[in-house]
Amino acid sequence: MSVLARFDVAIAGGGIVGCACALACAQRGLRVALVERDVLGSGATAAGMGHIVVMDDSEAQFALTRSSQELWRRLELPLAAEYVETGTLWVAMDREEMEGAERKCASYRERGVPCRLLTTRELAEAEPNLAPGLAGGLLVPQDAVAYPPTVALELARRAEGLGARIMVGRAVKALGHGLLLLDDGTEVRAERLVQAQGADATIAMPELPIRKRKGHLVITDRYPGFVRHQLVELGYLKSAHGTEADSVAFNVQPRTTGQVLIGSSRQYGDESSKVDQRILSAMLARAVVYLPGVSQLNVIRVWTGFRAATPDKLPLIGPSVDDQTVWLATGHEGLGITTSLATAELIAAGLTGGQPLIAPEPYLPGRFGKLAPNVNAGKEG
Ligand SMILES: Cc1cc2nc3c(=O)[nH]c(=O)nc-3n(C[C@H](O)[C@H](O)[C@H](O)COP(=O)(O)OP(=O)(O)OC[C@H]3O[C@@H](n4cnc5c(N)ncnc54)[C@H](O)[C@@H]3O)c2cc1C
Repeated sequence: MSVLARFDVAIAGGGIVGCACALACAQRGLRVALVERDVLGSGATAAGMGHIVVMDDSEAQFALTRSSQELWRRLELPLAAEYVETGTLWVAMDREEMEGAERKCASYRERGVPCRLLTTRELAEAEPNLAPGLAGGLLVPQDAVAYPPTVALELARRAEGLGARIMVGRAVKALGHGLLLLDDGTEVRAERLVQAQGADATIAMPELPIRKRKGHLVITDRYPGFVRHQLVELGYLKSAHGTEADSVAFNVQPRTTGQVLIGSSRQYGDESSKVDQRILSAMLARAVVYLPGVSQLNVIRVWTGFRAATPDKLPLIGPSVDDQTVWLATGHEGLGITTSLATAELIAAGLTGGQPLIAPEPYLPGRFGKLAPNVNAGKEG
């Protein structure tokens, strides 16, 4: 058994959230260790879509997504991170959805988020491959896309440059009371631990109110210009918020390579990483409704990943109720790429007693009270 030097913070999990926490803590002069079981950015971070998007289902969701988006805009990433402000184009199928777009537009403008409504004709000009006759859309130009695993790596490298110790290929076997116990017996001791194991956080902490929510994505060969914005159906909001039922929604992203990334699906109760042909067919059929030309594109890869879903659709950020040495940074469901940077700022401010970027209360794990194992795991907020 070896005991590593004592750290101020030891982070379990090197997805985008753990890597962002490592950097934010290192920037505040903390002595940081980060332990990742596989390679950096290999969990949901590698499986996700990399859409950096402002959402306003709740005030708390808006505050976290918007403040994080502002951090992304200042991050100055290398080209390899593929950060591009493509904008999101929310697509309205009919008049009813267009009214939803109008409400969303008014709400965004009120809060200082630039956006613009598009008529049927303007929508067709903006995205010529969309099906004809759609009702219109809402363009949110500051929304962006990025390649999340490269960003995670970049954040970890920056943290390492500030003295953080990054340990890759080592699994955390137990976590608590100021100690990360690794699978080879190594003890990593720290004043504070950060639980950033994403959807696997419940292995070490079964009491957390987190359930795995499976998603599928498809990537095509290169078709530069086939789509120009992140295209999302307004009905996506229903899909993302739906309760138990499996759902699919039209959600398509242009990659800088010219590839087209096609999503998305949501399923509870299936923890196998196998591709579910029924869901995959439904997802592609939905894409063809909006973008008929998708049926002519060559698909080169399909994969699945798991979102860490909480009952109220907000992440768990802050001290755990049971063990004050453990801070949680998990439960980000389908917005963890977007919200990674603001999460890290909340964690780092909390650990150093600094001024938080936004009010931390809505995300505190204590909102669920003291939990018995999986007490809330079956409920949806
Ligand atoms: C299909 C799909 C599409 C998505 N699209 C988007 C999107 O467009 N925009 C967006 O904002 N979000 C999106 N998300 C959500 C986003 O990917 C996640 O919220 C985000 O990646 C969570 O990051 P994380 O660091 O918390 O978790 P992860 O990336 O899962 O990282 C956790 C890390 O912990 C490590 N780990 C686990 N157990 C241990 C252990 N015992 N010891 C050491 N390390 C361990 C894992 O190997 C992993 O690297 C999507 C997710 C999916 C599945």
